[in-house]
Amino acid sequence: MIEIKDLNKSYKTGNNSLHVLKGINFSVKEGELVSIMGSSGSGKSTLLNILGMLDEADSGSYTLDGTEIKNLNEKIAAQYRNKFLGFIFQSFNLINYKTAVDNVALPLYYQNVNRKERDERAMHYLEKVGLADWSTHLPNQLSGGQKQRVAIARALASNPKVLLADEPTGALDTKTSYEVMDLIQGINDEGRTILVVTHEPDIAQMTKRIVMLKDGLIIDDTVVNQVKAAAHV
Ligand code: ADP
Ligand code: MG
Repeated sequence: MIEIKDLNKSYKTGNNSLHVLKGINFSVKEGELVSIMGSSGSGKSTLLNILGMLDEADSGSYTLDGTEIKNLNEKIAAQYRNKFLGFIFQSFNLINYKTAVDNVALPLYYQNVNRKERDERAMHYLEKVGLADWSTHLPNQLSGGQKQRVAIARALASNPKVLLADEPTGALDTKTSYEVMDLIQGINDEGRTILVVTHEPDIAQMTKRIVMLKDGLIIDDTVVNQVKAAAHV
C-alpha cells in the first residue's frame, strides 16, 4: 500500500538547514496497523505529512497504492489525497461553528458529493463512532473523546484506503485514549490500513507493529503482540 525508499527531508531556516529525515525506508501492506514512535522533534509528523501528501520529500521515492507520488500538480494531488487518505490530528481540527454532522459532511462537499448523500454518509459514520445522538451538537458541546470520534468519522466518510493519525490520543486522558484506540482497532479489524504517530508506549502496544524513529532514521521496526484497548477501558 505504501512504499518509501531513501526518503530525505531538510528544513531551511535562513542560512541553516535541519536534516530531519536522513534516508527512511519502509513499507506498509494493506490492512496493517502501524505506530511510528520517537521523541519529540524526531521527525514523526514530517514523515506522516509526506505520506499524507501534505508535504514533499527532497529526495527518495514514495509509492502509494502502486502510484509514484512525485511532481503532481495541486489538483491531482488533492484528488489523490481525497481518494486515498484520511487524516486524524491531535487537536481534532473541527470547525467550531459547524455541527458534528456538518463537520463530517464537509470534505464530501469539496468532493462534489450531493447534499443528500453527504448527509446520509455523515450520519452513517457518526453512528459508526457511536455519536448518532450528538449529530446536531457543536464541537464545544462535546468532550475531547467525542470530538476525536467526530474527526474519525470525518476521516472515514470519504472511504480512504489509508488513515493517518498524528498523535490522535495526545490531547486525551488515558481512559479516553484507550476508547479512541478501541475504535481505531475496530476500523483496522475491518481491513483498513492505519498509521498512528505516538510517543506513548501503551498506545503503540495497541497497534500491530512499531516503527521507531531516531535522529532521522528508523532504528527499530518490530511486530508486536497487540494489546486490545477494550480490555483497558
Ligand atoms: P515530531 O513530530 O517527531 O515531534 P517534527 O516532524 O514535527 O517532529 O519535526 C522534526 C524537526 O523539524 C523539529 O526539530 C522541528 O522543529 C523541525 N521542523 C518541523 N517543521 C518545520 C518547518 N516547517 N520548518 C522548519 N523546521 C521544522
Ligand atoms: Mg509531531
